[in-house]
Amino acid sequence: MLLLFDFKCPNGHVEERLVDRELRTTKCKSCGEPASRMISPVRCALDPHAGFPDATDKWTKRHEVEGRKPSESNPNGW
Ligand SMILES: [Zn+2]
Repeated sequence: MLLLFDFKCPNGHVEERLVDRELRTTKCKSCGEPASRMISPVRCALDPHAGFPDATDKWTKRHEVEGRKPSESNPNGW
């Protein structure tokens, strides 16, 4: 099954290619470098944290812990 994906190479060339849905990389038409498949722009717009699941998770956990602490037990003041 062929699907349309955006591919981006290390030199910043972005191109749409109709490829098999399992294909993750292709060869850049402009410079010949291996281009990686990009996440759909639509998905990025819906979820701004999609590319940083670990960072978002740590941020959430840290703030949950801080929320349970009495303020006087926080020597850093933040
Ligand atoms: Zn290129």
